[in-house]
Amino acid sequence: MILINEHYNKLTASYLFADIAKRVQKFQDENPDKSIIKLGIGDVTLPLPAACVQAMHRALDEMAEPGSFRGYGPEQGYDFLREKIARHDFQERGAEIAPDEIFISDGAKCDTGNIQEIFSTDTRVAVPDPVYPVYVDTNVMAGRTGEMQDGRYQGLIYLECTPENSFIPDLPREQADLIYLCYPNNPTGAGISKQELQKWVDYARDNKALILFDAAYEAFIRDEAMPRSIFEIPGAREVAIEFRSFSKTAGFTGTRCAYTVVPRDCRAYDSQGRKTMVHPLWNRRHNTKFNGVAYPVQRAAEAVYSPEGQAQVKNNIDYYLSNAGIILKAMQDLGYKCTGGKNSPYIWIQSGSDSWSLFDALLNKAGVVCTPGTGFGPCGQGFIRISAFNTQENVQEAMHRISKTLS
Ligand SMILES: *Cc1c(COP(=O)(O)O)cnc(C)c1O
Repeated sequence: MILINEHYNKLTASYLFADIAKRVQKFQDENPDKSIIKLGIGDVTLPLPAACVQAMHRALDEMAEPGSFRGYGPEQGYDFLREKIARHDFQERGAEIAPDEIFISDGAKCDTGNIQEIFSTDTRVAVPDPVYPVYVDTNVMAGRTGEMQDGRYQGLIYLECTPENSFIPDLPREQADLIYLCYPNNPTGAGISKQELQKWVDYARDNKALILFDAAYEAFIRDEAMPRSIFEIPGAREVAIEFRSFSKTAGFTGTRCAYTVVPRDCRAYDSQGRKTMVHPLWNRRHNTKFNGVAYPVQRAAEAVYSPEGQAQVKNNIDYYLSNAGIILKAMQDLGYKCTGGKNSPYIWIQSGSDSWSLFDALLNKAGVVCTPGTGFGPCGQGFIRISAFNTQENVQEAMHRISKTLS
């Protein structure tokens, strides 16, 4: 008899997006001539930078010729891309990362979801609340949790992110072995300082723990003092793995390219307490289960690091950041307490009572769709997330309508 993995039964269906869709549909049915502006999405809207498109075209032409055709590439990614990443994203910022410590992949979602399988099922996992759901659900699937109770899985350590701690959780009081952190944060838009990140690195070193650092929104950082990588923090190489993506950086959400950084000296332990290196484990997993990112896509990602690519990417991010600034100012002028909107495309807004009341007010009075904070965990109650991923015209119109009807 073929048995299923019953841990999957513990996963709770998220009714959030179905619920949002239902409310939006109802509003549209009742107001057929009102246009709806969607500021709930976590997906980019600007097209690919021209430098990336040109590089992909050139790579496709190479694939069309017998002399330059390429079949399977290295699972870890081509050297041309790994070298550029190591130099531009790390070495130039004082973080000692070598090209062979970089694993190219087709997404940070897959990487942050897959990484847990190289660690023991007994691992005590700490996740932020509110949280990017991938970290939680993949550990549920692997059997590291009990059942869901009051919005939380038994056996997980929840790191509460609240206005009181500026959305940077306090160190856990119990032993956490594997700690997920994401800065600039989705959904709160909060950033972390070097000093605060140092505390987590020190915790991991003192407690034989490991940090999984999701830096998918690193390109939105404009504050020069803010760390772009956890590897800018002394001591992090032994205790951290970092995830990056071209998705939000260069509009690759539909093109797919990301990377994971596993330093050679990053360590974990076996059941006898012996120190074991993580790099060969991840390398083995990657070689066995992944066959590399498409060559034209890696060439497109490489073009992000060309002078034209850098300028185009900066332009696109500046565009989203100016949207974020418009949203932040409008909501603050209405008296709402907000986080994010700087160094982040997300604005996390304190709604006062529950998330749905402000969601409904924005929808029914202004025809604007946001995301209720409850979709990201219990600590999201009383918050909504507004995203800067839309056209400037739509963002201006949305904030104009909100300011007029909610003031
Ligand atoms: C968008 C996002 C990613 C990127 O995922 P990809 O699979 O690379 O598109 C990773 N982490 C967070 C928190 C995100 O919001």
